Amino acid sequence: ETQGGRIGSSKPGVFVLSGPTAVGKGTVCNRLKVLYPEIFVSVSATTRPPRPGEGNGVAYWFVTDDEFDRMIADDGLLEWAVVHGMHRYGTPRRPVEEAVAAGKTVILEIDLQGARQVRTTYPQATHIFLAPPSWDELVRRLQTRGTETSEQQARRLQTAARELEATSEFDEIIVNGELDPTVHKLVELMRL
Ligand code: 5GP
Repeated sequence: ETQGGRIGSSKPGVFVLSGPTAVGKGTVCNRLKVLYPEIFVSVSATTRPPRPGEGNGVAYWFVTDDEFDRMIADDGLLEWAVVHGMHRYGTPRRPVEEAVAAGKTVILEIDLQGARQVRTTYPQATHIFLAPPSWDELVRRLQTRGTETSEQQARRLQTAARELEATSEFDEIIVNGELDPTVHKLVELMRL
């Protein structure tokens, strides 16, 4: 198969994966990592405290405000944003640049603000939005996860409502009903 001038079944590239809180971005990324260990899934830095069981360096690097300030000052972040009006989240620049240089498929699981910044850095990136089957289902998933207080949940749902209004900024929308079909659609879309 030849696609976009590249030969082979796998088309490397940068993929931005966004979507509202609790839609299942983390679960989907984890499954992709298991199925395709050669993919580079970026590990963000965040000032948010870890949830129970969240190990450092797995889904996130958990850093202090000072450490985050230093990463910004050193130009060490590809993009960063304050998400849900609370904590800062950012993509460490160097690992992504190295993976891109090595011709790997790269996934950035970041919010809408970050996605907009990546448009200038990697104009060729494919932007994918993971959407919930319905608003009620999204609320249910957030409540079931149970890792946020009700005030935090309310704040996250406010962000979610805004994000769901911006889906036209994305190249592809995948409705995350069940995990397997979602992963299958992603795999097809990314030509893995
Ligand atoms: P959570 O606190 O639920 O893990 O993540 C909250 C939000 O932060 C999610 O929308 C997630 O996509 C976003 N996020 C995670 N890492 C980054 C990052 O490096 N940059 C940006 N801009 N957003 C991120």
